[in-house]
Amino acid sequence: KTIRIETTNHAYPVLIGSKIINQLPKLLIQTGISQKTKILIISDENVAPLYLQVVVDQLNKFDAISYVVPAGDVSKAIGEVEKIITYAIQHGLDRSSVILALGGGVIGDLAGFVASIYMRGIRYVQCPTTILAHDSSVGGKVGINHALGKNLIGSFYQPQFVLYDTSFLTTLPTREVRSGLVEVLKHGLIADRQFVDWLEKNADSLLHLDQEAVSYALKQGIKIKADIVMEDEKEQGIRAILNFGHTLGHVIETLSNYQYLHGEAVAIGMFFAAKLAAKLGWLSKEEEAFYQHLLQKFKCKTSIPKEYDTNQMMNIMLRDKKFKNGQIRMVLPIAIGQVKIEQNIDPKFIFETLNELK
Ligand code: ADP
Ligand code: ZN
Repeated sequence: KTIRIETTNHAYPVLIGSKIINQLPKLLIQTGISQKTKILIISDENVAPLYLQVVVDQLNKFDAISYVVPAGDVSKAIGEVEKIITYAIQHGLDRSSVILALGGGVIGDLAGFVASIYMRGIRYVQCPTTILAHDSSVGGKVGINHALGKNLIGSFYQPQFVLYDTSFLTTLPTREVRSGLVEVLKHGLIADRQFVDWLEKNADSLLHLDQEAVSYALKQGIKIKADIVMEDEKEQGIRAILNFGHTLGHVIETLSNYQYLHGEAVAIGMFFAAKLAAKLGWLSKEEEAFYQHLLQKFKCKTSIPKEYDTNQMMNIMLRDKKFKNGQIRMVLPIAIGQVKIEQNIDPKFIFETLNELK
């Protein structure tokens, strides 16, 4: 189960499967990372107690050290970057060293960013431990937050490989499982009707982290994302469809002060897009109903909290950095498994749809 991701100057494999962490030494060697190489494992306070030792045991023939940061977005900060770099210098990491990201999206973004700037860039590899991280493990976006906004500091930087051991996912909190699966659903809904039907049939197995089902879902999700990213590495055009559900999703994350998990907010955003598309006559009522059914099967909410002010939501959407000169650019479905980017939507319809979702 290997997927190969190709970018302009770098290709790398993504391996997915249950209990495949024992392939780590072999993969390192195959990638040209010898046993003399110093490897800095970066993980967080939730993941480290569960899996750091497992990984360190695999690296017993390598020169591995580790650094553990607090869990959550707070660690995507310049202060944390500096601490890791200090640790790396003090422990003798040089240009030939390697960083291994062991954790969810936060760790992937942070560790990848450190790798991209340490001594003008050193190699890094990823062992994702969340479902959501299937999304950030492809595309090469690494980075951290600034006090004035999320993900404002970063680079495009590709890993040497991604090793996804799905047995690591079994300790995820239920909400994190659901939230991560929403991003898988998104990949289906933008590009692959057959995959959406498969997801609908396998919702329960996926929610219960059936290893076979999860491996397949991650593989498909990554393939879809990789195809889109390979076509449009620097986000000029088609890649924008990956923002499906994210415009309103970000609004909900912001207004809830991040009480909603990313996928929980994106689920509402995708249903909003379906409802708006139905209002515009691009999606049938049956297809809109299917969206609701699908999201409910994955135990997602599809309504906006009543107390959110519609005008305020509109204003936040207009400030979104992905909007072109004040125009509301949205990704809307035109069928199950197909979306299009629309620039000129009458704000009146957006306003109405937001109200109907409360
Ligand atoms: P993301 O959801 O973007 O991938 P995080 O890195 O923030 O990002 O992970 C979500 C939360 O789940 C964090 O609190 C993290 O410590 C925790 N976590 C990550 N992987 C696991 C795991 N395999 N088991 C238990 N908790 C995990
Ligand atoms: Zn997302």
